[in-house]
Amino acid sequence: MISNPGTLGESIEIVSTILSEAGIENSRREAHLLLQYVTGKSVTDLRGFPKARLYADVWNKVLLLTKRRAQHEPMAYLMKNKEFWSLPFEVTEDTLIPRPDSETLIETILDFTPNANARLNILDLGTGCGCLLGALLTEFKYAVGVGVDASKSTSSTARRNMQRLGFIDRAEIRTGNWGDGIKTSFDIIVCNPPYIPSGEIEMLDIGVRKFEPHMALDGGRDGLESYRIIAREIHRLLTKSGLAAVELGLGQAPEVTHIFEKNGLKIKKITQDLAFQNRCLLATVRN
Ligand code: GLN
Repeated sequence: MISNPGTLGESIEIVSTILSEAGIENSRREAHLLLQYVTGKSVTDLRGFPKARLYADVWNKVLLLTKRRAQHEPMAYLMKNKEFWSLPFEVTEDTLIPRPDSETLIETILDFTPNANARLNILDLGTGCGCLLGALLTEFKYAVGVGVDASKSTSSTARRNMQRLGFIDRAEIRTGNWGDGIKTSFDIIVCNPPYIPSGEIEMLDIGVRKFEPHMALDGGRDGLESYRIIAREIHRLLTKSGLAAVELGLGQAPEVTHIFEKNGLKIKKITQDLAFQNRCLLATVRN
């Protein structure tokens, strides 16, 4: 147990050193973030008043979080929050942490849906914390949506997020297996499925492999298992003129295209993320 250093400034030094010794990059910035999270003070206050007194209960909390971070637990889990599409989303250890790459799906849908006032019916398969659905409901003010997740705990988190964002009247969150039990059709379907081949999970960053839910990552032997199910579901649930945007893992565009085409879907476009990787496959029903 490291005893209370007494001041904010010194505590930042200690936290930063512990994190840096644990191999965390940007340890100083993260030390500030942790102190900010626990004290509720702004960075300006933290920097401007290094001699401010640090209370024992605050230090104990900071130390606890520092130890978790030193084990490479993601900051988003420590702070129970992650921003996506500039919106705050609660995350828990049962939900995948939203990635900026997934914003490619939202951008792609927006590019192909010119009418922001359309009364769209949106489906998010494997909604996780609800980030894709939340982003779309923000952009399409008259849309309604359904988010489904196989995990009960995750769907509770998604529901809380819809509540917090003010979308609870426009969003229904279900616990279920992909489209099981859903009978209506949708103008927009989005999905970020698990797509990492089972054998590659162990090669992911420690923060991902040790802390994020494997259920949201593991795409089976070849990483494509979910796409085989989703392709059928999209074909069944998408309206004639509807659009489906599905996230792709690295190098998966050709195989997923093949799976989708075999299931009566047409590929409209494949779009890239900020690192120029093929990230989103936009599909329609083949007429
Ligand atoms: N993009 C995530 C990662 O690389 C994986 C998310 C997923 O499987 N859908 O860690």
